Amino acid sequence: MVRIAIVGGGIGGLTVALALRQCGFEPEVFEQAPALLDVGAAIAIWPNAMRVLDRLNLADKILEQAGVMDEIRWLDQHGRLINRVSIKDRRYPAVALHRADLQHTLLTALPQSSIHLDSELVQHEQRGEKMIAKFANGDSIESDFLIGADGIHSRIRSQFLNDHDPVYRGYTVWRGISPTILSAIPSGAAVELHGRGQRFGLGPVGKGRLGWWATANVTNTNDLLRVFDGWYRPVLQLIEATPSSSILKTGAFDRPATRTWGRGRMTLLGDAIHPTTPNLGQGGCLAMEDAMVLARCFESNGANEEALRRYERARHKRTSAVSFYSRHYGNIGQWENVWARGLRRTALALVPESLAQRLMQIVFKYDATN
Ligand SMILES: Cc1cc2nc3c(=O)[nH]c(=O)nc-3n(C[C@H](O)[C@H](O)[C@H](O)COP(=O)(O)OP(=O)(O)OC[C@H]3O[C@@H](n4cnc5c(N)ncnc54)[C@H](O)[C@@H]3O)c2cc1C
Repeated sequence: MVRIAIVGGGIGGLTVALALRQCGFEPEVFEQAPALLDVGAAIAIWPNAMRVLDRLNLADKILEQAGVMDEIRWLDQHGRLINRVSIKDRRYPAVALHRADLQHTLLTALPQSSIHLDSELVQHEQRGEKMIAKFANGDSIESDFLIGADGIHSRIRSQFLNDHDPVYRGYTVWRGISPTILSAIPSGAAVELHGRGQRFGLGPVGKGRLGWWATANVTNTNDLLRVFDGWYRPVLQLIEATPSSSILKTGAFDRPATRTWGRGRMTLLGDAIHPTTPNLGQGGCLAMEDAMVLARCFESNGANEEALRRYERARHKRTSAVSFYSRHYGNIGQWENVWARGLRRTALALVPESLAQRLMQIVFKYDATN
C-alpha cells in the first residue's frame, strides 16, 4: 500500500485525506495540535467548494448546520443600499457556518486511527524514493509521498523554498459570531458595508446565529464600537451582542504567487502555498479545490511524482488569479480618500446584476471534481 503522509489537519489537510480515501488510498494526517479544537469564527463556503463537499458526500451535513446566502448586498456605512446581486444556486448553494462545525464534519468522516495529533513536523527530506518526516515529539516516519497542508506559516514550505514571510496588506481583520439574529438584516443575504478605510460584513451562519467580520486600516485597537462609531445601528448591535473574548483579530496577509510548490515526492496545498487575503472568503475554498484536484491526479495518473507536478500545474493559474482578485478587492475596499471612495461607490452602483453574476461565476463555477 502506498503510504501518504499529510502534515496539517486544517481544512486542506482533512479534505485531501477524504478525497484520497475516496480514490482508494489510505493517507494519514499529522497535526501539531494536541486536539483539533473549536476555532471560534465563521467560514463561508462558496459554490466552488460546495461542489467538492458534495463529491465527498458531505454537502447535506454541511447544509444542516449552515446558513444559506442567496444574495450579496453592498451598503454604505449608514445602511443605504449601493447594489445587490442574487447568487441563488439550488445545486451548490453558497453557505456559511461555524468553523468548528466544518472541522468536526470533516474530521468525523475520517477513521480516527488515520489522525495523529501532537505531531509537529520539524524537518523533512527525501531519501531515494522515500520521504522522511521528523516530529518534535521525537517520532519520525517514512512515507512514499508527503503533502504539506501546514498553513500560512508552513514549516515544509520554508524548508523547501526558504522565501520571505507572508506579506501584510495594511489592515486588520476582526471576526465574530453573534448569538442573535437582527430583524433589520434580511435573512439569506451576505451584506458588506463600505466606509472610510473600514468595512463590515455579515451573514447567516446557521443555528440562529449571525457571523460578521470587520476591517480597518488600524492595528492598535480592540475597541470596535469606537472604530465603527456612527455606523449603521445593526453593525454596533452585532458587535455588542458578541462576547468580546470570542472576537478574533488578525492581520490581512497573503503571498505573491509562485510556480514552485513541490519537489520530488513532496507537494504543498492550501495556505501553505497560496495564502489569500480574506476579502473573497476563498482561502479555505481554494484549499478544498486543491485537495480534490490532487486526489484526482493521483487517481488518473497513479501515485507518482508526475501526478504531483500535474496537480501543481493544474492549480497555479486558478489560485494565483483568485488570490490576486482578493488582494485588489481588499485594497479598493480599504480606500480612505474621499474621491476614491466616491468613485468606488459609483462604479459599484453602476454594475448591472448580470455582469456581477458573470464575474462571480468565474470564481464559483470552477469544477475541481472534473
Ligand atoms: C479573517 C479570515 C477570514 C477568512 N474567511 C474565510 C472564508 O469565509 N472562507 C474561506 O474559504 N476561507 C476563509 N479564510 C481563509 C481560510 O481560513 C484559510 O485559507 C484556510 O484555513 C486554509 O486551510 P489550510 O488547511 O491550508 O490551513 P490551516 O487551516 O491553517 O491548517 C493548517 C494546519 O496545519 C497545522 N500545522 C501547522 N504547522 C504544523 C507542523 N509543523 N506540523 C504539524 N501540523 C502543523 C495547524 O495546526 C493547522 O491545523 C479566512 C481567513 C482569515 C484570516
